Amino acid sequence: MMKKINLFTALLCALVIVTTPSFSQEAKDSIKTYPGGEAHSVKTYPHDFTGDRPKNVILFIGDGMGVAQVYAGLTANKGNLFLENFKHIGFTKTYSANRYITDSAAAATAIATGQKTDNGVIGMDPDQQSVKNITESASKRGIAAGIVATSSITHATPGAFVAHQRNRSQEEEIALDFLASGIDVFIGGGVDFFTKREDGRDLINEFTRQGYAVKQDLEEIRSFEGSKLLGLTAPRANGRLSDRGDMLPISTETAINVLKQNEKGFFLMVEGSFIDSGGHANNTIQIVEEVLDLDRAIGKALDFAAKDGQTLIVVASDHETGGMTINGGSFESGMVKGEFTTGGHTGVMTPIFAYGPGASEFGGIMENTDIHAKIYKLLFGEK
Ligand code: MG
Ligand code: ZN
Repeated sequence: MMKKINLFTALLCALVIVTTPSFSQEAKDSIKTYPGGEAHSVKTYPHDFTGDRPKNVILFIGDGMGVAQVYAGLTANKGNLFLENFKHIGFTKTYSANRYITDSAAAATAIATGQKTDNGVIGMDPDQQSVKNITESASKRGIAAGIVATSSITHATPGAFVAHQRNRSQEEEIALDFLASGIDVFIGGGVDFFTKREDGRDLINEFTRQGYAVKQDLEEIRSFEGSKLLGLTAPRANGRLSDRGDMLPISTETAINVLKQNEKGFFLMVEGSFIDSGGHANNTIQIVEEVLDLDRAIGKALDFAAKDGQTLIVVASDHETGGMTINGGSFESGMVKGEFTTGGHTGVMTPIFAYGPGASEFGGIMENTDIHAKIYKLLFGEK
């Protein structure tokens, strides 16, 4: 009898050990569900545009934003997003030159230059030759250009719109490429890559000498009214939403105000950098925060574009992160139950949305390099 009880106890213990998740597993599971929270109110905008070619293009990139991430945001916002104003929708094939599953450097290079390249490469082809990007093409024609990101401004996605480097880790070299670019406005994190450098140079001084206002305070960025701005809001990446506040929507608005002064038009790229981080961490709460933050920035662009009538807004993604799906949710509470298949990127097509003159070009299934080709043709009127 005693023996039987011991055997039973041992079995029970084994069962408890097998089925009780460790603390870290519990922590992991708890962030897979967004419990619901505040929703922002969204507006519906008219679709009255001047002509079928835009004077200005604003390109948003949600890093790591697949359909599930968008729908997590839509559910969390109780059923509405600014993004629903976009009526022309397609899908992008995201593979890189050497990998079925891309990284952000190769994907951003494809979108910025129209050239697929190897993972890790910034603004160069697989033979390490520099390829001209859309901001260089704009500047050549006297069209203004700007870059906004929540990551360091020298990170892979924003970097590929300005720089040419063999590896995304060369953020100090990317900062030097920024200095040489003449671009009108940069806002993101990454002060350290401008001031704490191996070559000892202080690029903030050098930007100032080139006529840029350099601002590290978000309120000063909000109220900025000049024509050349370097905004650096964090030593490296900006923090989570609770730390950085409305950094992205404010920076988007300021960048538009700076760029719209150019009578020939402008190109602006705005990245929601950390939807990707939420995917890597399998963290639905972070994904929701970041998608809603990007949506509020898109709202700022819609406010401008709907009045302007000559501005095309494209919302794209570089790849999906986390293999996310949604196993439950509520439009009443905003709760979203996420599930994930990986801590890395996936190969699935990503959604692309367009609003404004030329938006109908962005329907169907396209290569990520086609995003560059379409914007180029629409903005410059040539192939
Ligand atoms: Mg990125
Ligand atoms: Zn990633």
